[in-house]
Amino acid sequence: TTERLIMSEKLATVGEITASVAHEINNPVAVIQGNLDLARSILGEAAAPVREEFRLIDDQVYRISVIVSKLLQFARPEDYSGARTLIVPADVARDCLVLTRRQLEAAGIRVETRFDSAGQVSMSRTELQQVIVNLVLNAVHAMPEGGVLSVGTEARDGHLVITLADTGTGMPPEVLSRIFDPFFTTKQAQGTGLGLSISQQLVGQVGGRISARSEPGKGTRFEISLPLAPGG
Ligand code: ADP
Repeated sequence: TTERLIMSEKLATVGEITASVAHEINNPVAVIQGNLDLARSILGEAAAPVREEFRLIDDQVYRISVIVSKLLQFARPEDYSGARTLIVPADVARDCLVLTRRQLEAAGIRVETRFDSAGQVSMSRTELQQVIVNLVLNAVHAMPEGGVLSVGTEARDGHLVITLADTGTGMPPEVLSRIFDPFFTTKQAQGTGLGLSISQQLVGQVGGRISARSEPGKGTRFEISLPLAPGG
């Protein structure tokens, strides 16, 4: 429809602006980081009284660089997409649970896995990893007091479906309907609101879909559906 066409043109323009702004921010951030390191090494032991202040500057500069790289990836996904290979999502999901083990343990979250399908899909391994890690960390944020994270894979209608279900805060319908919107976050300063929109792009690029169901106070269930590779 016309409306959709106008919408996608608008998004393209916003994407271009976003990409150039993000790019412009990169240079001064690199200069700040470089000079911070330099100042620290010049001062040596004399920097001890301001160690905490240096650490805070470091943290925040790092935070800017993370936001900038997410913005760039969001605005120009084609520049960042990794090579597609045949991968087994069950293996990638296992890796992601190892990568996030510290955060899961710190929050007191029990993980249950059920990998019913070891089917293969054609996708960049690092991109699928990024999508799953993002979902795991969102689940951690949704279960600050602990809970259960169920992770599984199954084959369904020619698709490999990865499920991540948490027993966290859940979301009311008005939040759920916006979670894939770029920059939508309920985490104020802690969130970028780009995690799920980037995930949706990455999954969409290989003909897959990502969806969510949620109930406030009960939890949230995400499903990533990816076309099974022929013979996979
Ligand atoms: P961010 O995590 O930076 O806010 P995301 O795009 O990853 O960005 O998520 C957008 C919003 O979706 C979050 O701010 C949160 O409100 C909601 N959300 C995502 N995952 C969950 C979850 N597992 N449980 C509850 N809310 C969630």
